[in-house]
Amino acid sequence: MVSELPRPTCTTRKGNSFVMIKIAKFGGSSVADAAHFKKIRAIVEADPARRFIVVSACGRRFSGDAKVTDLLYLVAAHVRYHVSCDDLLADIGARYFAIADELGLAYPIRDEFAAFAEKAKAGALSTEELVSRGEYFTAQLMAEYLGLPFLDAADVVAFHHDGTLAMGRTHELIQERGIPGGFVMPGFYGATREGRILLLDRGGGDISGAILAQALDADLYENWTDVSGFLSADPRIVENPQPISRITYSEMRELSYMGASVLHEEAVFPVMEAGIPIAVRNTNRPQDPGTIISDREDYVEDEPIITGVTGKRNFVAVHVLKDHMSNEVGIIRRTLTIFERYHVSVEHIPSGIDSFAVVVQGDDVKDCIWSIVADIKTEVAPDAIKVVDDLSLISTVGRNMIGRPGISGQLFAALGNEGISIRMIAQGSDEINIIVGVHKDDFEHAIRAIYRAFSDGDHLLELKDLKKTADESRPHVVDDK
Ligand code: ASP
Repeated sequence: MVSELPRPTCTTRKGNSFVMIKIAKFGGSSVADAAHFKKIRAIVEADPARRFIVVSACGRRFSGDAKVTDLLYLVAAHVRYHVSCDDLLADIGARYFAIADELGLAYPIRDEFAAFAEKAKAGALSTEELVSRGEYFTAQLMAEYLGLPFLDAADVVAFHHDGTLAMGRTHELIQERGIPGGFVMPGFYGATREGRILLLDRGGGDISGAILAQALDADLYENWTDVSGFLSADPRIVENPQPISRITYSEMRELSYMGASVLHEEAVFPVMEAGIPIAVRNTNRPQDPGTIISDREDYVEDEPIITGVTGKRNFVAVHVLKDHMSNEVGIIRRTLTIFERYHVSVEHIPSGIDSFAVVVQGDDVKDCIWSIVADIKTEVAPDAIKVVDDLSLISTVGRNMIGRPGISGQLFAALGNEGISIRMIAQGSDEINIIVGVHKDDFEHAIRAIYRAFSDGDHLLELKDLKKTADESRPHVVDDK
């Protein structure tokens, strides 16, 4: 049983010993070539708690390069259509051979790869099994290089027959077959009871790492990638945005949903449920602290007021106008039923006395918007319908905004001063985000204006910079006890 065996002992700077398990997951770009394998060994050796390693298939070595997973999907397509894929297989093999040769590894990669290539060409492998070999070979080489045993994900990550993960069984298998002193496991795949290999979503290596962290009740899930964590804004829009040192799970969901994506979304749930923090770190810059994702919601004076500002283009607002609408019961429900009929997910419903709007993602309605409008006309009989399709949404996210007066005022004033008109305002009920809708041409300008409003030019403003604290300015509440 993995959890019953002693955990690696670490020593703090103060000399105290403690036991710890860290799951370290290395993404495709972090295992792209032998040079990256070396970086990983240095990272793993720097911390005795890093003994449980998950790897992706070799990713891009330079911009314009191909990811092994993409090439393997291409091989599967060639095989299906009986087109020769010898060159493709040779390219993929060469990447693994180069790593093994440069690092002097004994794993018989040439023989193993040749056997795989033969089976693949003969059509003897399912697409899933064929594609999974990307992570399989990476993990085999990494295991030898790190001097850790290889643990096949097919033996421990369990799938139901319908392709969903069997979490309970996965936990049991990891407890049963996991190797207590540590191991290297390929990400992205698992198997059914009968041994049929199945894949997680693209980018699913993050999910494999999270599952392992949950099953081993790890202290930390480290996700090593090619960026130093989350940035407080898109660097293509804001010059030198400040890195985010700490973020809560819900803030991260808000930021990723609106565009700032670093981690696979589903990777967050297993670890969040188990209360395990995630550290997003940069394999190429291990000295950078990265971002810690955790739900510790304490109040820290020297943390920024806003955590980040991000946005998404291409939203459509369908405005429904009808006199005396507020006296009519069911009109919003009837309208929403129409969106549901077309399987369109609704983002926001800003409303007034005689009108409301339904805001949806442009891509979701590109083929059905006029059918939806026609149905609204017939079933809701409004006085007018207006479709606005040039809307961008900008979300300002921050747990530190909660209960603090004046933040939205500051944000709206910043946009007003820049001459940017706000077309829609929404605030989540948990108060961790303020969303504004602006014309698509104002998108970048608005993000810059908001970022500037909460920064001093170099750094994001911190709580201690606020003139009035929430307590001083909170309305006086009469105690009715
Ligand atoms: N190799 C897989 C992909 O490219 C999974 C991963 O990298 O996490 O999607």
